[in-house]
Amino acid sequence: MNYHKSRTMLLLGVGICLFILFVGIITAKNWIIVVGAIIVIVEAIQFSIFYRCPHCGKSLTCVSGPVPEHCPHCGKELKYIL
Ligand SMILES: [Zn+2]
Repeated sequence: MNYHKSRTMLLLGVGICLFILFVGIITAKNWIIVVGAIIVIVEAIQFSIFYRCPHCGKSLTCVSGPVPEHCPHCGKELKYIL
């Protein structure tokens, strides 16, 4: 998995988690809220593992906002890879 897929999965995971938490709160089912919390934990782990520069391998989690055009650590261009 590359950094673009990792970031997309994180955003999808957050959206799914918010929906699950919303459903869990409305239905007052604690197990649904636990599933949402597990999704958040899994997404945080995959994001910390895979959201890295393909050139130097350093984490890009220190960058806020969209994927940067250049790595803040090595300065090389981060091209969009599918
Ligand atoms: Zn780099």
